[in-house]
This record gives sequence, C-alpha cells and structure tokens, in this order.
Amino acid sequence: QAKEKDVPYFIYSPESDLISERRIKLALDLANAIRNNELELYHQPQLFSNQTHITPSELLIRWKHPLYGFISPDEFVMIAEETGLINHLTTWVITRAAKHAKALVTFGIHDFHFAINVSAHDLSKDGFCHEICNIFKRHNLLTNQFTLELTETTHSLDSETFNKNLFDLSEAGFNLAIDDFGTGYSSLTYASDHPFDDIKIDKQFIQDFFNSEKHQAIVKATITMAKNLDLNVTAEGIEDGVTLELLKELGCDKLQGYYIAKPMPFNEYLKWRSPNFET
Ligand code: C2E
Ligand code: CA
Ligand code: CA
Ligand code: CA
Repeated sequence: QAKEKDVPYFIYSPESDLISERRIKLALDLANAIRNNELELYHQPQLFSNQTHITPSELLIRWKHPLYGFISPDEFVMIAEETGLINHLTTWVITRAAKHAKALVTFGIHDFHFAINVSAHDLSKDGFCHEICNIFKRHNLLTNQFTLELTETTHSLDSETFNKNLFDLSEAGFNLAIDDFGTGYSSLTYASDHPFDDIKIDKQFIQDFFNSEKHQAIVKATITMAKNLDLNVTAEGIEDGVTLELLKELGCDKLQGYYIAKPMPFNEYLKWRSPNFET
C-alpha cells in the first residue's frame, strides 16, 4: 500500500506544469525538511473565558523552505496527506509539542494547555493512539493538558480504526476537538455521538461577525446547542475587541485570534506568557 510508505507517490492531476512541479518539489523536499529541522512549531496564545490562570495555545507548524520561503501549512499538510508523509509529520509535531511542554515544566510553568492539529489520516492508522501516548509518557506529561484538533473530512470518518483511535485517545485523557466546525460534513449529532469534547467554530463565521446578522445567528444557535450536548466551544479568527466581547457574552469557552495574539515562535511565546522571562 503506497500510503503506508515513506516514499511520496503521485496521483495524476490536470493542473498546470508549474503547479505540479512545485508540488512535486515540495513533496520530495518535505521528507528532508522533517529530517533537517526546517520545520518549526509556532504557538498562538488563546484565552479560556473562565479560567484566567491557564494560558492555552494552539500549535501551528511552519516550514521555511530554502527556495520558496515560508509555505502555508494549508499547502504542505495537504501534500503530506496525499503522499503518505502525514504520519511522519504528525509524529514530528507531537514530539516537538512534547518537548515544548517538557521545557515549560522544567521552567516550573505548569499552567499550559496545548492544542495540536492532527489529520484524519493519522487516526486511520492502526496504533496511532498507542504511538503518541508513548511519546507523552516518555516525557512524563499529562494527556489532559492537550487538545487534539481534528478537521472534519468525509473519508474514513467512520472506519473502525478511526473510531477505535478516537475512543482510545479519549480514554487516554486527551481533550478532543472538531476543527473548522460548520464548514464540512460534521454535525453536532456527529460530535455528540463520538467522544469529542469541543467544537471549534470556523473562522469564516467569526471574521465578519460584527457585520453579519446571519453569522451571529448561526454562531449563537451553535453555541446553545453545543452547550446542551455538553460540548465546549472555541472561537477562532477573532480580529477585534467587539467580537471578542460578544463571543465571551455568548458563552464561548476558548477564544483565539490575531486580536489576542498572532502565532509566534516558542521563545516569543515564553516571553508573551511571562514578560519577565529570560531565555
Ligand atoms: P487551523 O487549524 O484552522 O488553524 C487556524 C489558522 O488560522 C492558522 O493558520 C492561524 O494562523 C490562522 N489564524 C489564527 N487567528 C487568526 C485571525 O485572527 N485571523 C486570520 N485571518 N487567521 C487567523 P495557519 O497557521 O496558516 O494554518 C493553516 C492550517 O494548516 C491550519 O488551520 C491546520 O488545518 C493546518 N495546520 C497547521 N499546523 C498543523 C499541524 O501541525 N498539523 C496538521 N495536521 N495541520 C496543521
Ligand atoms: Ca486547528
Ligand atoms: Ca480551524
Ligand atoms: Ca483547517
């Protein structure tokens, strides 16, 4: 099965040669990038609306390609999924996240909560839960300080392996979230029938929140129903103070967006959380 191999494989696509060329180059370079430490894990600080003592963050991968410069994860994560490199990438992300968490603990900082993005492809892999639990165990970390964010996709969402991993991760203590909620196929029924704890409302509903009565109505209804189903709600893409206050009032549990802070390297994140911190 090509998907399980480390070597990228290619599916014919009718795009222009230039785009294909870039994609092929990126696919080939990505394997090396993982090995050569061209990747970095940024932190975007978040806020819990009712727990001021915990400073959560979402971890977002960055790739500085020697030729193309910074490449959006939206572009290369998809390539990684298509070529089967995603499992490597996710293992790298989780190992790096565990190292960051371990560094905080070593500095005596315990009030963190990291949200990590995983792919549906990862959960479709046998033993995924076991593999990542081992990484966290090796670093002596508590799983309940981590949220795993999963973007809804049509494929594999109800395969046996996928559901077993989901269940095992929940049992292992991870907080599980559906990312980009409202844009894809998942519904609140799906969320509550599976061991999810959170939904993360997609930023497209938040970005023109103030101007869009329609988006306000959708978000309001989503929050109300989510609460009745015992799901926590995160809002991302908050770019102004008015939207932040409105979302707090509506009962969002976790808030994220450029208005609060942009994604930043780990060192800057340390200074952001404790301005007197010296690295
Ligand atoms: P996402 O998980 O939905 O992440 C949120 C994206 O919104 C991030 O883009 C973040 O920088 C951006 N963002 C945050 N606040 C604001 C805001 O106020 N306004 C606007 N316009 N954007 C905001 P980024 O870092 O480019 O990541 C894009 C996507 O790539 C992510 O979407 C996620 O699906 C994927 N991704 C990123 N890191 C990882 C990773 O480590 N593993 C996996 N599997 N996917 C990742
Ligand atoms: Ca996410
Ligand atoms: Ca999202
Ligand atoms: Ca996304």
